[in-house]
Amino acid sequence: MLKGRTILVVEDNPQNRELVADLLGLAGALVLLAENAEAGMATARNQPVDLVLMDVSLPGMDGLEAARILKGHPATARLPVVALTAHAMKGDRERILAAGCDGYLTKPIDTRSFSASVAAFFPAAAHATAQA
Ligand code: MN
Repeated sequence: MLKGRTILVVEDNPQNRELVADLLGLAGALVLLAENAEAGMATARNQPVDLVLMDVSLPGMDGLEAARILKGHPATARLPVVALTAHAMKGDRERILAAGCDGYLTKPIDTRSFSASVAAFFPAAAHATAQA
């Protein structure tokens, strides 16, 4: 489902990081991990990455500020950034989209649908895979 895709997961919570990495890995993705915004941005700039899953609540710089910076740099402006948020409250969607994120997924993570939800951010790839 995510075969051939490199996904960077920026998440400070070790359990969530491991869970997300396992689910994406099972779906065929190559998973890169970062535990804070600064490390995540460095990886996004220095390695080929197809999509970033960005926890919103991170120690130090938060995920939305990191998304804003990535979207503001020519080298990473077109890299899809999907927020991971525990707060799907009113106004959060607007804040996430205003930061330049391409969408968001909510925590707690639904282990049965998570990789499909991530794959949905690759419509062209899903189509190509279906034809292969
Ligand atoms: Mn967090």
